Amino acid sequence: MKKALITGITGQDGAYLARLLLEKGYEVIGSSRDSQISNVKNLSRLGIRESVRLESMSMNDFRSVLQLVHRIQPDEIYNLAGQSSVALSFEQPVETLESIMTATINLMEVIRFLDRPIRFYNAGSGECFGDTLAKAANEETPFRPRSPYAVAKAAAFWQVANYREAYGLFACTGILFNHESPLRPERFVTRKIIAAVCRIARGSRERLRLGNTTIQRDWGWSPEYVDAMWRMLQQESADDFVIATGKSHSLAEFAEVAFRYFGFDWREYTDSDASIFRPTDILYGCGDAHRAADRLGWSAQLDMYGVVHNMIEAELDDA
Ligand code: NDP
Repeated sequence: MKKALITGITGQDGAYLARLLLEKGYEVIGSSRDSQISNVKNLSRLGIRESVRLESMSMNDFRSVLQLVHRIQPDEIYNLAGQSSVALSFEQPVETLESIMTATINLMEVIRFLDRPIRFYNAGSGECFGDTLAKAANEETPFRPRSPYAVAKAAAFWQVANYREAYGLFACTGILFNHESPLRPERFVTRKIIAAVCRIARGSRERLRLGNTTIQRDWGWSPEYVDAMWRMLQQESADDFVIATGKSHSLAEFAEVAFRYFGFDWREYTDSDASIFRPTDILYGCGDAHRAADRLGWSAQLDMYGVVHNMIEAELDDA
């Protein structure tokens, strides 16, 4: 039986990945900053809380990482922990950098130190490309990060590439574009829209405040994206892969599709609020996942329309 350690198992991707690995017969151990008080609602919602072992680990503390990895002896490590909000990264730049960059070095140093053939997945981000200028970014596209979050993810990406090259670690970065699900917290605009439109459909008279609705993003479906993570670690040799749908839509379109589900015109229920615009934002983000299709046999099945539909259905089921 293969053993996997998932850091950040309590988050959106962590929960879906844990479910996938359990289905594949893995023993799954997940780490959280404090397993005694961590929020396990995503794991409970997927019905797998009792099937995974939760452990505490401070990713920025080498000793803590070493102790846990040494005790568990995993075959694969999926590093999904860290500050994951672009918006919050402008408020917490140091926390963001350390929770992404230092944590990634610590994990790879521990793998080197233990000298075991542990395969390592690093959660990279399409945010590293910055504005992709009306083109889809692939693995050769230069990074132009435009937020503290993206700067941290870019640094972690190069660390992984360097450890692979310098020490022969089986280490991959998945450069994932936005992917959503009902497990997204409401501070992310996609879930905020879905939650609000469902409340309005049930009679709420609220108005939805949105930032810049002209920004365009490549939105996919999280349960599909975690499958790509697993596939990366099953290859003969390690490499980095862009994971995306290849289609970009504006936030206005996302809102329009969500409100149209109930026959509403989104413009009648929303306000644009300049106070929630980001200091710098990406106008256009889109990924080209051809390498993943060729080498991993992976391609996105759901696009933005499918994502909106599934998120609304889940929100209605929960009500
Ligand atoms: P989530 O925010 O849902 O989960 C991340 C987990 O990391 C949390 O549950 C939390 O676990 C832990 N965490 C949060 N903040 C910190 C911090 N400051 N320091 C240490 N640990 C922290 O993220 P997702 O599941 O959406 O994403 C998984 C990974 O993929 C993240 O690294 C994210 O940046 C990256 N990514 C996500 C994309 C997306 O669209 N979802 C796109 C591209 C990359 P606990 O509280 O239990 O410790």
